[in-house]
Amino acid sequence: MKKSHKYVFVIGGVMSGVGKGIAVSSIGTLLTAKGYKVNLVKVDPYLNVDAGTMHPTEHGEVFVLDSGLETDQDMGNYERFLGRDLTSDDYITSGMVYKYVIDKERSLGYGGKCVDAKQIRDEIVRRIEHAAKVNKSDISIIEIGGTIGDYQNVMFMEAARVFKTYHSKDVVFMMVSYLPTPGSIGEMKTRPTQNAERQLASYGINTDFIIGRASTPIDKKRKEKIASACNIRPERVISAPDIKSIYDVPVNFEKDHLAEQLLEAMELPKTKTDKSFKAWTNMAKGIKNHKGKEVHIGVVGKYFNTGDFILSDAYLSVLEAIKFSAYAAGVKAVIHTVNSRDFENENSKSKAVIDFSSLDKFDGIIVPGGFGETGIEGKLNVIRYARENKIPYFGLCYGMQLMTIEYARNVLGLAGSQTAEIDPKAPHLIIDFMPDQKKKIAEGNYGGSMRLGLYPTKLSKDTVAYSAYDLAEKIGKGNVIQERHRHRYEVNPKYIERLEKGGLVFSGRSPDGHLMEIAELPTSVHPFFLGTQFHPEFLARPLSPHPLFTAFMKAARSKAKERPEVAEQE
Ligand code: GLN
Repeated sequence: MKKSHKYVFVIGGVMSGVGKGIAVSSIGTLLTAKGYKVNLVKVDPYLNVDAGTMHPTEHGEVFVLDSGLETDQDMGNYERFLGRDLTSDDYITSGMVYKYVIDKERSLGYGGKCVDAKQIRDEIVRRIEHAAKVNKSDISIIEIGGTIGDYQNVMFMEAARVFKTYHSKDVVFMMVSYLPTPGSIGEMKTRPTQNAERQLASYGINTDFIIGRASTPIDKKRKEKIASACNIRPERVISAPDIKSIYDVPVNFEKDHLAEQLLEAMELPKTKTDKSFKAWTNMAKGIKNHKGKEVHIGVVGKYFNTGDFILSDAYLSVLEAIKFSAYAAGVKAVIHTVNSRDFENENSKSKAVIDFSSLDKFDGIIVPGGFGETGIEGKLNVIRYARENKIPYFGLCYGMQLMTIEYARNVLGLAGSQTAEIDPKAPHLIIDFMPDQKKKIAEGNYGGSMRLGLYPTKLSKDTVAYSAYDLAEKIGKGNVIQERHRHRYEVNPKYIERLEKGGLVFSGRSPDGHLMEIAELPTSVHPFFLGTQFHPEFLARPLSPHPLFTAFMKAARSKAKERPEVAEQE
């Protein structure tokens, strides 16, 4: 008999932002370690067709898949926790679904039927089933974006309900809820969770599991209370207290036997946890309690401020990639967020009045990806400071383009070097439109139209980049590596020769040799000064840190060792 595919729907109760995505990711880690092939699906209620058109302070980082689909940061967590690449089919937005249904209606795809919300619901169902097929997985875990009660995700709730009627024995529901402990009362309250369960029932869905997020573990008494009020077994109320590191969540779930409980609910064999989970546990411990030397990394960006709050969500994958490589380099990363605007002045040209001394405490500086003009002169000033003062520097996408502009301005002496993104009429367009991009912008075609996803880069031997990838055994046939991209602009081919003559090395290029993918300075000139046109952070995984981040962290480690005021701890 054909083994049936299992589906776990995960729905948020009480409030958002309590770590539903991490819960989903962690279940993925656990079931994978039990020997099951798992795919994780995110359904997002917004009408943007993909996340690429949203501002990072609005919705966090835009994460890019191999396929080039621009998704939200949850997909990044999913891939990091699963340790494998997901497909475009694993990401579903209302925008995609509505667009598909309306386009189909316009081409008479529904054969004259009245098209309404039912077609939307059925299209969601079709996509979830299709993702399972494409992944050839045993279990799909589907996270419904938003919280129970949102009017925005009603169609997804309805799709989840009807899914159970189509696959009655193969669907399990899970609610990730929040249990507050108000300071004035001093007791953990279960009522909001009970109410959320009631609200869920009003959609025709009864949950099988409740993950209770709270500041402390849920005690037996409260587990029993929730279980009896919500018609579930007490052992299926899983405690998810606040913890220091997200990588501990699977470890904590394992303590509550969540995977076993789930397998039982899905009527799947309760297989043993394999060796991969031991490696995971060690990594989680290592990242959290690392006793190694502290290495201070400044991440210079502009997407940190939202209202009165500072958020690092916009650079999530970068921050995680630093942590994995710090662990690999045997050091503890202390990450500082730096607002690039602090390094520019009114007319943003004169360097004299800017105080750079705060950068001296860094053992390494990263300028991550970005768009537009804000904060650019500040970033260029910081890059110059890092180059001249031999602070290890790592530029990611925009960070690589700016490093090339800085080099052209201050080493080659090409005043007015610029990117066409800021001033297409600048005297020296060191960074220019990629050939096919100009037309797209002129037509206002912004959505999903950048150079996106996985592309090959050919590495030159005897370079910093080559050694890093070589050490990690990532170099394929023909000295080629594969990385994910998201950009419209590139190093202008007209300036390559001059830049190289001036000392900048393009150690990675597209295999046809036209597009500059990695720029660097030789180690004889600078301990680490390297930028990538691609986004290495999208392929950094906890159990396989990214080779370039690791090389950067090692250079930062050497710099940290030079600092006399810090006692040696290794
Ligand atoms: N804005 C630059 C470009 O479009 C860099 C993009 C990025 O950093 N992701 O080319």
